[in-house]
Amino acid sequence: MSRLFPFLLASAAVLPAGCKPKAPSTHAEPAPSASTSAAHGHAPPHASAKPGTTTQPARHESHGSTPAKTRFLVPFAWEADQENAFAKGRSFLKNLIDDNEAFARSAGSTHFRAFADTQKPRATIVACSDSRVQSVAIDATPENDLFTIRNIGNQLTSSAGSVDYGVHHLKTPVLLILGHTGCGAVKAAMKDYKKEGEALKKELDSLTFERPKGSVDSDAVWKEAVVANVNAQVRGAFATYAHEVEVGELMIVGAVYDFRGDLEAGPGRVTFVNVNGNTEPAKVASFARAVKVTPAPAERPPKTARSALAWRPLAH
Ligand SMILES: [Zn+2]
Repeated sequence: MSRLFPFLLASAAVLPAGCKPKAPSTHAEPAPSASTSAAHGHAPPHASAKPGTTTQPARHESHGSTPAKTRFLVPFAWEADQENAFAKGRSFLKNLIDDNEAFARSAGSTHFRAFADTQKPRATIVACSDSRVQSVAIDATPENDLFTIRNIGNQLTSSAGSVDYGVHHLKTPVLLILGHTGCGAVKAAMKDYKKEGEALKKELDSLTFERPKGSVDSDAVWKEAVVANVNAQVRGAFATYAHEVEVGELMIVGAVYDFRGDLEAGPGRVTFVNVNGNTEPAKVASFARAVKVTPAPAERPPKTARSALAWRPLAH
């Protein structure tokens, strides 16, 4: 991967305007091989290029009064334009490789052996796909602990089978609907989205929460809509999992992750807004306090001890 690609001999002066580099690059980072098209900042290497072969650079001869070549394209000039899609994609993949190597090395094989054959998550989570919402915000050790389903708007309908797997097959004692402030899907659902593609429209149609009054462009209304959507999804969950809640095998919790600081708890905090269908702030806050002060078992409870975690719906 460190093979250097030979400098192109093509002069910028004889290239079509669209192929000219935006600016001379002094970027000196070693880079993997690429085709001439990639060097022009347009596209990734051709998939048809055989590994281990090097494309011969095209020569452009000077004609007539064309000035002698004084400038040469720089290989991987797309690196000079960080907004170039291929540059961003390559950057991401490089980070992926580096981060994964570091992770695997630091974790060690023993770490993976513990859950190589089976998973025993404690929570099924339905969260939004938003890139600003990540499990690290709510669980320092999410592996083998969070069975996570993500889609736009943290909705049940489009992922019903996955949720069912978490609750019925993995028997997680918690089903957490995790919304977030600043949710674009919630805002989109409150606006006119009929020009979107069919697949996207179908998912937005699933966000059937009660619309708060006022313009969604108001932060206060948007925040209210986020909470309304979480509550609607919790209600939807009861249509399928009321029995599990009633017999004490499952608690359904609605919460909002607030990276914008729109809620009272402060940016980055998770606020519970719904516990088994109860949304009264005082009751939900009381529940959260109780959870916080109750000593947690040193280890995860074995499945046979789940009944000890039985949750009874709060009296209305
Ligand atoms: Zn979202």
